[in-house]
Order: sequence, then C-alpha cells, then structure tokens
Amino acid sequence: ELSAAIAGKAERILVSVRVRPLNAKELEIGDSSDWDCVNGTTIVFKHPPPGERALFPTSYTFDRVFGKDIGTRQVYELGAKEVALSVVRGINSSIFAYGQTSSGKTYTMTGITEFSVADIYHYIKKHADREFTLKFSALEIYNEAVRDLLSTDPTPLRLLDDPEKGTIVEKLIEETLRDQDHLRELLSICEAQRQIGETNLNEMSSRSHQILRLTIESSPKVYAGRDGSGTLIACVNFVDLAGSERASQAMSAGVRLKEGCHINRSLLTLGTVIRKLSKGGRNGHVPYRDSKLTRILQPALGGNARTAIICTMSPAHCHVEQSRNTLLFASCAK
Ligand code: ADP
Ligand code: MG
Repeated sequence: ELSAAIAGKAERILVSVRVRPLNAKELEIGDSSDWDCVNGTTIVFKHPPPGERALFPTSYTFDRVFGKDIGTRQVYELGAKEVALSVVRGINSSIFAYGQTSSGKTYTMTGITEFSVADIYHYIKKHADREFTLKFSALEIYNEAVRDLLSTDPTPLRLLDDPEKGTIVEKLIEETLRDQDHLRELLSICEAQRQIGETNLNEMSSRSHQILRLTIESSPKVYAGRDGSGTLIACVNFVDLAGSERASQAMSAGVRLKEGCHINRSLLTLGTVIRKLSKGGRNGHVPYRDSKLTRILQPALGGNARTAIICTMSPAHCHVEQSRNTLLFASCAK
C-alpha cells in the first residue's frame, strides 16, 4: 500500500535516471546511443575505451532507470507518485528534474505535474469525509533573483524569515484553487510568463529554476475541533532546475563557491544539500541558507519531507561528458 511504501522509505531520496530518445540534431550528425538501460534500475556505458575504464564507472544503479521507450506516465508512477501524494497526508515533498539543457527536464516535469495534480484531485474526491483547501504559487529563480510567475511585475521578491513559517517569499501570490481547471489556467499563465523571460534573455530557461508549489490543507468535516486538531497542511514542490551544465563540473571537482562566480549558486548549493541529506543529514551542517533555492525549499527537504530526483540525460555520444556528470550527481544523491 502507498502509506506503507511512504513509511518504509522515509528520509530516503528517490533517485531515478531518464534517458530521452536521440533528437533530430543528434541523428543528423550520425550520433548514436552510448548507454544501455538494464532491468529498470541500471544504466551501462556501452563503449568504454581501453585505458579510460579506470577513470569513471561504466555501470550505475539507481531506484529506477527509464530508457528512451518509457513514457512519462511510467516515469511518474515509479519515480514520483508516492512522493507527490505524500502531501495529502501532511508530508511536505519536492520533486526535481535535474540534467543538462535539452535533456528533457521540462518535458518530464510538465507531465509529472499533470499526473500528480490529477491523482491529488482523485484522492480528494474519494475522501469526502475531509475538507480540502488547495493553494498554488509559482516562482522562478534567475541569478539569485526571485520572480513571481503569477504576476506580470518583474520586480524581484525578497525572502523573509518568519519565526513560525520559516523562510517566506514576500508578496508571492498564492491563489486558492477553485478546481482543476483553475489550476490548468494558472499553469498556462506560468508557462507564458516563463516564455516572456526567454525572449528578453535567450538562455533564461537554461539558467533559471522554476518552482511550482501546491499547498494542501485538510481537516475532518465532522470532528473538526476548534483547536484545529486533525488538520493536515503540507506542500508539494515541482522543481524544474536550471541546466546542470552550469554547475556539474564545479560540483564534481569540489570547487568552493565564490562571490561573483558565474556558476549557478542555487544549483551548486542544492547539490551540497542533497549530498549531505543522502548521508543522513546528521553529520554536520546542511547549508540551506547558502542559496535562494534551498532556502525556499528547506521545509520540503530533509526532516520528514520526501524527495524525488529525476535526472534526465541525452543518450548521444556528443553529450557523454555531461551525461557522466549527471550520473555522478545522481550517485551522490543516493
Ligand atoms: P530541458 O528542459 O532539459 O532543456 P526539454 O524538456 O525542453 O529539455 O526537452 C528538449 C526537447 O526534447 C523537447 O523538444 C522535448 O519535447 C524533447 N524530449 C525530451 N524528453 C523526451 C522524451 N523522453 N521523449 C520524447 N521527446 C523528449
Ligand atoms: Mg527546460
């Protein structure tokens, strides 16, 4: 059962790798796939050149590995669903798409968000004994500046420390959802907002992080006590990360974060936070406060929060360096 799966896997990060099909550009240059996906959990490098064998692992095992023929529905069912649905039981969660630009992050995360929302609404319909309130907000982090994707005002939003709620994004619009159609409307506004950004600045989507956040509050209809007992509140975050080419080299080399560094501070810090959490999070300080992304997501990372990371990659030989970096990141998250 779902709840058993959630309880059994608490505090562990669900890590998956998804390999997309070769694209037209890769096929045009006669490129071919470097990777075999085996048994649904292992990915193997097909052509280790002699001598290079010792320099990097040729086989990697994760919770799930999805080959080019696996659709997003299946990726969702096996790689994200239990994490996304923990929100209806009052457990915060985050689902990330990580990978180089054009590896399939947005493609994957868009589908996962749709499927999650449908399942959450399905769950609500089946639990008529409870009253549910859903709220939605959306933001983008570009160069450590936070922008509201539900607003046309491009003024960066400030992060404030609330003694009770932790870090909050000042003035971020939070829409109370009427129904699933309302959410669809808001999602298309976000998409349009993101595209406006892209025409202003070409590489926006490869450099920016997008967080779509659904907050769900529920309480029993009959026994709702005045003290709020039985009330559950939690959020699920769908995070489409900036292209990992901005940080992966620095991360694998263990380069320290410097002021004015062109690498993406939020992505680099996320890597450090995830690495620490995957090691249990107890040995030592987890640097949530080092970036906007990790500050905003802190309540939905670590602790009893659930996390799923889907690492997307191209199978093409021309991207082998980036694919290896992505697999290295995924390995560190395990
Ligand atoms: P990213 O967000 O990582 O930059 P995208 O999600 O935009 O990459 O994907 C790049 C292109 O590849 C898009 O046209 C997308 O539709 C296509 N694509 C990505 N993943 C898949 C997949 N698994 N199957 C088919 N097409 C895909
Ligand atoms: Mg994208």
